[in-house]
Amino acid sequence: MGLPVLILGYSGSGKSASMRNFGEDEITLINVNGKQLPFRTQFRTVLCSDQYPEIDRCMKQQTHKVIVIDDTQYLMANEFMRRAKETGFQKFTDIGKNFWELVRSVQDLPPDVIVYFLNHIDTDEDGRQKIKTIGKLLDEKITVEGMFTTVLKTVVVDGRYLFATQTDGRDSCKSPIGLFQSMYIDNDLKAVDGALRVYYGMEPEIICGDCGRPVQAFRDKTASQIAEGTSRTYGIPLCWGCACKRVKQRKEGANAGTQAVSDGAGTAGQQVMAHGA
Ligand SMILES: [Zn+2]
Repeated sequence: MGLPVLILGYSGSGKSASMRNFGEDEITLINVNGKQLPFRTQFRTVLCSDQYPEIDRCMKQQTHKVIVIDDTQYLMANEFMRRAKETGFQKFTDIGKNFWELVRSVQDLPPDVIVYFLNHIDTDEDGRQKIKTIGKLLDEKITVEGMFTTVLKTVVVDGRYLFATQTDGRDSCKSPIGLFQSMYIDNDLKAVDGALRVYYGMEPEIICGDCGRPVQAFRDKTASQIAEGTSRTYGIPLCWGCACKRVKQRKEGANAGTQAVSDGAGTAGQQVMAHGA
């Protein structure tokens, strides 16, 4: 059973940009409206389509563990436009049912596949933010967010592009307890993917090279970001606590080193003078 994850946000708030850290052969991208991505990586496996049967086939045939559909709101909007001249409510029922079936179809995928649904956000008359859909079927009968255990929202704070991981009381954001340590994290879908895989046991926990305990998320950093960063600096993954200890030791070491160098320099200097004399 694959895992569907919903990413909500206004246009230009960093939904597509959040894919930037995936490698070109790490994901299957379903580009619903065939739009250009706001970064340089050209993903190798891309389906440009707003047709459910094609998307379904693509998802079933893919070999990547990450599938991103950008953006799912246009699946609904394009179907609505194609059928704009039809009278009656049947088209709304179909639009709702097709989308519902797409989310449900993730269940038929292998258990280590995560499908990210990038979708526009809407503010209702009560000021609550929720997924932007078309028709009341999805809004009232289904509540789309109920089909996902993780719903993140893009937010821009002081020029920083972030994901909200929990609700602020007026939106439908949510994530399982302990997956993220902070209300806001960097809008990095690859880091989110890493965190989800460890959380759901799709990938083994990363063990700290110093204390032997699992590396955990800390503040706005996910476990995989901390492990990657410490591996780069120290050659082994470290937990936040052990990484802090190393930084402290290095500073103390640097101070001791400075002392040793100045002492040594003094002695060498004296020797040079002695030789010179
Ligand atoms: Zn440790």
